[in-house]
Amino acid sequence: MTKVIVNGACGRMGQAVLKAVLDDKELELVGAVDIKGGKDVGELLGIGKTNIIVGEDLQTVIKAVKPDVMVDFTRPDVIFNNACTALKNHVSPVIGTTGLSDAEKDKLNELAIANNTPAFIAANFAIGAVLMMMMAKEAAKYLPNVEIIELHHDQKLDAPSGTAITTAEMISEVRKPMKQGHPDETEKITGARGAEYNGIPIHSVRLPGYVAHQEVIFGGLGQTLTLRHDSIDRTSFMPGVVLACKKVTGLKGLVRNLDQIL
Ligand code: NAD
Repeated sequence: MTKVIVNGACGRMGQAVLKAVLDDKELELVGAVDIKGGKDVGELLGIGKTNIIVGEDLQTVIKAVKPDVMVDFTRPDVIFNNACTALKNHVSPVIGTTGLSDAEKDKLNELAIANNTPAFIAANFAIGAVLMMMMAKEAAKYLPNVEIIELHHDQKLDAPSGTAITTAEMISEVRKPMKQGHPDETEKITGARGAEYNGIPIHSVRLPGYVAHQEVIFGGLGQTLTLRHDSIDRTSFMPGVVLACKKVTGLKGLVRNLDQIL
């Protein structure tokens, strides 16, 4: 049994992870952490008492329950410190929280190696989203003109989404940076053409009602190709999170993206 704690347990993703871990026969939920702690995990989920109380301090919970793995779905501004705390205590982080910079990921990789404690991060744990990214990379070899539109609920803190950035990074592996659109185009309202990653425009939509969605639109002579993925429920991420919890302790350093462990 892999012993798991969930950080950000009271949040939208945290609660879905608590349920997924409790439902899996090879994972044991041993603790939960959230700055809004204090409640019994079972009461939080509406399933009756589990006698696991959501703690408010990560280090204290780690010392008390000695987990193998910490799943983190918290906030972009706290994830780096959370992951450092886990690694220094020889607990493997499975990171779903988006917003870490490349430099921070590199530092976590160094820390994971130095502490002999592997770690895993994925901007998107949904298999359909992973396939969309892989297909986008393939399509960009033949249709290099591409724009990304990502659509999320309006409580999301970071823009563009980690999935959009990862998609643009993967496309950039097969496509040279290039200027798209008319060379003389101007924005009448700043931002109208979106943000840019290596010349790939990225547009972020934030509205109530959405969960996590993305379109990658390719344009060619007389044709367009659209790849679209929709997470219509947070359960879409759970098979990927559960898989990462089971595999992370067998990895080396910080492993990035779900396709590496499928
Ligand atoms: P949320 O706001 O619903 O939940 C975040 C929770 O973290 C809250 O309960 C909050 O109290 C808690 N929190 C904040 N600071 C904390 C700290 N220092 N220590 C412990 N707990 C803390 O957010 P959400 O919708 O669940 O999303 C969380 C993160 O997961 C976001 O970064 C989001 O982009 C990301 N996300 C990733 C994936 C993926 O597949 N990788 C999928 C969905 C969301």
